[in-house]
Amino acid sequence: MTSDAPNPTPSSPGANTAPDAALDDAGNIAEDVTCRRCGYNLRGLPREALCPECATPAALSARSDLLRYTDPRWLEKVLLGLRVAVIAAAVGLTTFFARTFLIRGGLASTLIDALVSVALAWAGWLVTTPDPGRSELERAETARKVTRTALTAGACLHWLFLFATPPVPIALVAAGLADAVGEFAKFNCLRRLALRVPDEPLARRIRIVKWVFPSALVVKSLALVAFALFASRPVVPSRATGFIVAGLAGLFGMFFAYVWWVQVQYMLQRAIDPQLALARRTYALATMPSSAA
Ligand SMILES: [Zn+2]
Repeated sequence: MTSDAPNPTPSSPGANTAPDAALDDAGNIAEDVTCRRCGYNLRGLPREALCPECATPAALSARSDLLRYTDPRWLEKVLLGLRVAVIAAAVGLTTFFARTFLIRGGLASTLIDALVSVALAWAGWLVTTPDPGRSELERAETARKVTRTALTAGACLHWLFLFATPPVPIALVAAGLADAVGEFAKFNCLRRLALRVPDEPLARRIRIVKWVFPSALVVKSLALVAFALFASRPVVPSRATGFIVAGLAGLFGMFFAYVWWVQVQYMLQRAIDPQLALARRTYALATMPSSAA
């Protein structure tokens, strides 16, 4: 591949091909720009040059951080993670609803919870795949590591609860707390993705759910502890109404938190879908052999 094509990214309908990095009078990149594939600093190179380290067209990297300019192979993994998360979350919501309002919990719903937690952990790993075009500092390393560690720990604890004999109820409480931490960190990463669509209203919505859903999980875990502690004691009749009202309010709160949790991840998946199509087109055009340009 040579670099004598005057413009490696010919404009195409619907694709924003305007350069975002500042260029000097000679057309060279005039600010620090990281190569999207290998991280090399492209400052001072002509926009039409290829990265000296990995031969990716500099023009691809001399753009904003929008998802439509990212490596499509990376974005595919992120999107797969979101799809898995949406399906797992929808199954989790259905199980929660069925167990609460229709049937009593049993082995089946506990097993489904454990399967959902594995799917969510896998989704969390995919969604937090490091973007090769961003430096470690920009990748939100802490949020990534916490997402992966906490969701994996949550999945292990769900299975511990399922198989341990005698049952270890505290494992279920610990699983809920680990899930809460993991989802909070994951939503930090999801918010960054929404800003790179860019979709600021969606990013604001994600920030709200980032607090609501993990809080609901913590309350649910504490309620399990309270129930285990007080279930065997006789309830004073004058307090029974208060317990029932508090319990119902908690259940409806949980239910809406679950719905928002599923919905906002689905909205993000729908927002990123067309960005992947744009990223594929950008990369196909930019890495085309110059003879075909
Ligand atoms: Zn490179």
